[in-house]
Amino acid sequence: MVMTLPAPMTTSIFLHERQPKLARDSFGRAMTYLRISLTDRCNFRCVYCMPAIGMKFQPRDEMLTDEELLRVVGLCAELGFTKLRLTGGEPTIRPHIVDLVREMKAFPGIEEVSMTTNALLLGRLAPGLAAAGLDRVNISIDTLDPDRFKLMTRGGRLDMVWQGIEAADAAGLTPIKLNTVVLKGQNEHEVGDLAALTIDRPWQVRFLEIMPLEGVGDVHDESLITSEQTQARLEARFGPLESLDSDPSDPARTWRIPGARGTIGFISPVSAPFCASCNRVRLTSDGKLRLCLLRPDEVDVRDLMRSGADDDAIRAQLRGGIWRKPWGHGLAEGERFTGRGMSQIGG
Ligand code: SAM
Repeated sequence: MVMTLPAPMTTSIFLHERQPKLARDSFGRAMTYLRISLTDRCNFRCVYCMPAIGMKFQPRDEMLTDEELLRVVGLCAELGFTKLRLTGGEPTIRPHIVDLVREMKAFPGIEEVSMTTNALLLGRLAPGLAAAGLDRVNISIDTLDPDRFKLMTRGGRLDMVWQGIEAADAAGLTPIKLNTVVLKGQNEHEVGDLAALTIDRPWQVRFLEIMPLEGVGDVHDESLITSEQTQARLEARFGPLESLDSDPSDPARTWRIPGARGTIGFISPVSAPFCASCNRVRLTSDGKLRLCLLRPDEVDVRDLMRSGADDDAIRAQLRGGIWRKPWGHGLAEGERFTGRGMSQIGG
């Protein structure tokens, strides 16, 4: 199947003239959301994220230092980025995480700093992160069964994660969003119990389709459950879900169990890609601006900084890279890219 691309912009359009500062790609999409991988290391080994054996981690000297990281973030803020999401790997294992949050939140123009985490360390860290200005967290939790949790994370402790979720809620890192990757034969039968968490709690439970990233292509092929299948399973238990308005730049389409306090989200990168409204790029922990989650197109900023480049040169590199952002990931067309896994890119 051939993907239909919109025509690239060759001249400035009205919006562009109205907001000249924003970094746009050649299709006119403004990039305002930076997802930052603080480390490629993690304290879990989730089966859909990392292979069982053969993971290689970046040498420390290849990773951005705190100073380099903050410099890139400051320049992105000047280019009109307003939202930051800290991810990884596991962002909470990055040294100085609380200070990094405080400094990032202080850049003029940065309106929101959020984090995607497995919550293992949030029991201890949540109050400090909230005080430093972290706005909210998305927490990955794929099962409510401690034994299955141990299997799916290859060793993780559900009780500590649950404590972390409660600590985040108590610290006001809300609205709490829980991410579940639904896998055939593993946790598909639990989606109802996970969705039921929203009945009494103002949380959003989001069901994700597994993507075939490096190292987990076989897990994807054997285990993909589409959002449509998950929704059918939920409706068999709860009756028809109510459709809610969704923010077009939010990859989740939102629904509600009738009468529930919280909501349910479906994130469907495989069956219903949301590339047309993509407003995000990623900064890898080794200092590459990754233009699309799945495509290998990247722009170096680390070596440029280390060569002594001034801010103008780095801003130009960032802007030029964003201009070359690919239209879409092409999963629905059967495209598949290897190279980096999710934990290396920053999911
Ligand atoms: N360690 C943190 C965590 O567990 O949330 C942040 C990094 S993790 C890579 C970020 C998100 O990517 C998680 O919600 C995880 O479920 C999701 N993820 C990882 N591998 C995936 C895959 N192959 N397909 C879809 N989502 C994936």
